[in-house]
Formats: sequence, structure tokens, C-alpha cells
Amino acid sequence: MTLDEAAKRLADAGIESPRAEARLLLAHALGVTRDETLGAINPTHEQALAFEGLVARRAAREPSAYITGRKEFWSMDFRVGPGVLVPRPDSETLIEEALRIFPNRNAPLRIADLGAGSGILLIAALKEFPNASGIGFELSDAAYPWAKLNAQRLMLDRAEIRHADWGTAPENSFDLIFSNPPYIPAGDIAGLEPDVADHEPHAALDGGADGLDAYRALARLLPRLLKSQGQAILEIGAGQAAEMELLFRDSGLTVRRITPDLAGIPRALVLEKA
Ligand code: GLN
Repeated sequence: MTLDEAAKRLADAGIESPRAEARLLLAHALGVTRDETLGAINPTHEQALAFEGLVARRAAREPSAYITGRKEFWSMDFRVGPGVLVPRPDSETLIEEALRIFPNRNAPLRIADLGAGSGILLIAALKEFPNASGIGFELSDAAYPWAKLNAQRLMLDRAEIRHADWGTAPENSFDLIFSNPPYIPAGDIAGLEPDVADHEPHAALDGGADGLDAYRALARLLPRLLKSQGQAILEIGAGQAAEMELLFRDSGLTVRRITPDLAGIPRALVLEKA
């Protein structure tokens, strides 16, 4: 299968950037970088077969991150696979907020990531704050090993990953808490792109009837876990910003701001413990 044929197959399957994705899969099949596929290439028979197999999986709308087993986030190379949410660039907004709130990079912050998924928020933050340490909580059997693997590969001993419910987190312990909780209204999930709806873990997406169940739980939990003046940075879904003021009213947390992502969608909710 040529690159052109692969791109055509992916375009027919409704993939948005078929050429770039075909090249990514070719690079993966050949075990080279994407740039190296720009030169003359002479795949072996096995590599050609492997490439066709990868293209068929992508044409069936399996996320390319699951096919290649990796996804970049905050310029770090994360390992991912089925059962863990694929990191989104939108979530980098939360790391930018952390840098804004804590201008001293040397602060020995204690950080938690509630529902850590592949561990991106905790690990990216620990990269930026070299004297910080933290705990990622991940309840899912399928997601937990990915967070553990990424913490070992990228962070060594400053990131602890616990296979546990976020409700087990220690009280009055954290300067900074991240969470990218499930926030899609349950009834909207079937209408998402098939890459998401058919392949990504619904436990990481499904926020209950109105999408806000996790925030109600966090409004009760965060004030207990944060140290005084501690900050929480939560990812929110499109159209949810207006609900947040009311949702966190009387929680013991104040909404400091909601920062948009690169697409202009309000994305990072910053809360402070009073
Ligand atoms: N951002 C994801 C999406 O677009 C949703 C992730 C979540 O629910 N936290 O589908």
C-alpha cells in the first residue's frame, strides 16, 4: 500500500488529516521518525504488511495514539493504550495556569491529580516544579498501569501513583490539586466522534446526566484535601463555565478565574481554598 493509497483510505473513513496520519502510521510501521519517511523508503514485505494493518485499524477509527502507543503532552512522550483517555492539547491550559499561580518554580509544592488517567497533569507539573512531589489517584484497572508506567519512565520517584479512589486522598495535604474529571453529559457520548465514543473509556468521559456529577463530588472533597490557601485547577467542558460559580458556592472554595484553551473555549477552572 502506497502512502497515497493509505491517505485515500483514511480520507474515505472520515479522518480529518489523512495524509499526516498515514505518514505517522508509516513511520510507526518502519520504526523511524515521521521526517525520515519523507526520503526514499524501501519497506520490507513485513513492514508493508504491518503498515496496511495499522491503516485498517485507523480506518476503523481506533485513535492513532492507541495504535502507536504514545501521545505527546507538554513536550513529553507519554505511553497510552486502550482503557486510558488519550491526552488532549486542551489540557495543557491547566499546566499553564499552574505556572501562573505559582511563579516560584522552586517551590516544594505537594500536588495531587484526581483521576490521573495516563498521569499527564501530575507528571507535566512535576517537570516544571523540580522540588515538588505528588500523588496521582486512578481507580480504573485499565488506566492505572499507564499512569504508573509514565511516572516511572518520566519522573522516577517524585510522582507516586495510587490505584485508589480519589476519596482516599489524605486531608489538608496539598498546595495544588489537578483534575480532568469525566464531564460529558451521558446522553451526548454516543454522538461524539467514533474515535472517542467507540474506543475511549466511558468512565473517563461520562459526567452523568448533566455532565456535572464529578464537580459536585469535587466541591465536597477539594476543601478537605487542600491546605489553607491551596489551589485547585480543574478541566471543564465546553459550555460549562457558567455553571461553576453556582456549583462551588458555599463549598469553601472561591472561583478565581476560568481560562480559555487555544480554541477560545473556557477550559481551566481555578479555585482557591478560602
Ligand atoms: N476532552 C474530552 C473530549 O473532548 C473529554 C474528557 C473529559 O470528559 N474529561 O471528549
